[in-house]
Amino acid sequence: MNKLILIKTKKNKSIAKKMIACILLIVVIFVTGFCGYFFTARLKKNKDFTPVVISKTNEKYNLHIRYPYIKKKEYLEKINKKLKKEINTLKEKENKNKILEYNLDYKIYNANFLCSIVFTEHKLIEKEQYETKQKVIYYNTFTNSFLSLEDILLNENAKVNLDKIIKSEYLRAYKEELKKEYIVYLDNEGIKANSNKKEILITYDKLKDILKKQYILETSVICKYNYVRDKKDEKEEYRDIEMFKNKKVICLTFDDGPSKYTAELIEDLNKRDAKATFFVLGSRIKGYEATLSKMSENGFQIGNHSFTHRNYHNLTDNEVISEIEDTNKEINKVTGITPNIVRSPYGNKKMEILKEKKLVEISWSIDPEDWKYRDVDHIVKHCLEKAESGDIILMHDIYKTSTKAAVKIVDELKKQGYEFLTISEMIKLKEYEINYENSIRNFKN
Ligand code: ZN
Repeated sequence: MNKLILIKTKKNKSIAKKMIACILLIVVIFVTGFCGYFFTARLKKNKDFTPVVISKTNEKYNLHIRYPYIKKKEYLEKINKKLKKEINTLKEKENKNKILEYNLDYKIYNANFLCSIVFTEHKLIEKEQYETKQKVIYYNTFTNSFLSLEDILLNENAKVNLDKIIKSEYLRAYKEELKKEYIVYLDNEGIKANSNKKEILITYDKLKDILKKQYILETSVICKYNYVRDKKDEKEEYRDIEMFKNKKVICLTFDDGPSKYTAELIEDLNKRDAKATFFVLGSRIKGYEATLSKMSENGFQIGNHSFTHRNYHNLTDNEVISEIEDTNKEINKVTGITPNIVRSPYGNKKMEILKEKKLVEISWSIDPEDWKYRDVDHIVKHCLEKAESGDIILMHDIYKTSTKAAVKIVDELKKQGYEFLTISEMIKLKEYEINYENSIRNFKN
């Protein structure tokens, strides 16, 4: 009996051991799995242009690094390699009894969909002696690709000519020759060249032979229109414009939709008696017919934002015409309305075609860059800071953050006495005459 019990206990012990091993294994698998999941989830959360910050300060060195996260293997590898090198240098010199410093920071300049990311590197090499280096990388946020300066310039000669223009402009501005290296970046005003904190600007009108067409932004044209009612508008409903006289007025415009967020946005705006204008893509109408009908039935205006969102400057005239006409046909099929306002993708219009087709290009005066900052508070703050009567706000109803921000903007500006009009209502209120020569950027005069 005793023997038997002994054998049984032995058996039990080995079973218990196996079970413990099993449990341990499960725990290990679970923990590694969880960590892995947590890590990848965190990586996935890292959206493009989120700043990555690395900071370490001790008695030996100060290290501050900030760079924008962009999900491109080559870019991230380059940055990692560079940082590893700098950190190693810091560590190597650590024991030489002096405080070391390394600082890398960046600033982004935007010219429509082209980002110039300017990196500034700051190193303390000897006591109070700093070495500063700057480098620019260019990024196309629509194609999600990095570009070189050559990619942006028209041709081989353009680079030489640009250098000549920059040098002569520098001489004129600072009464001295530009001998040092300089960096070049683009923003809303034009090309900016910077050397040792001295900056010069070359506006877009002087860059026709330098930049590729799609990178030339039109410098602000504000023009006066007197409204002439077009036959095409007849089906569009207007609210009684009289009630907006002597009030602060603003236009909300949404591009790139319709999307799954648009119907709710329409409801939210309706509740607040705010109207808006939607520049829709022909290719996105299928599946959102009900949303489009809801738009027009509730007095929202529909504009044309092309069929496939291609850059008109890269298309033949015939291709541009089909982009516009195919979209208008789709809109008409659903709503019975043929839009007479357009917003060309990236604002890159072909004026001759618009003139011929009697279409008005609608630009904007407030751009919160909602596609980049998917952050409700950021978008709201930007718009509230800039808003003035007559402004046209540009947003995209394909992002939840944008549609949520729009509702908040309406609530806040309503408190300040603003009314939200469609483009047609605004044209009527301001008695603008459509001349088809220029785009409308705002309704301030
Ligand atoms: Zn667009």
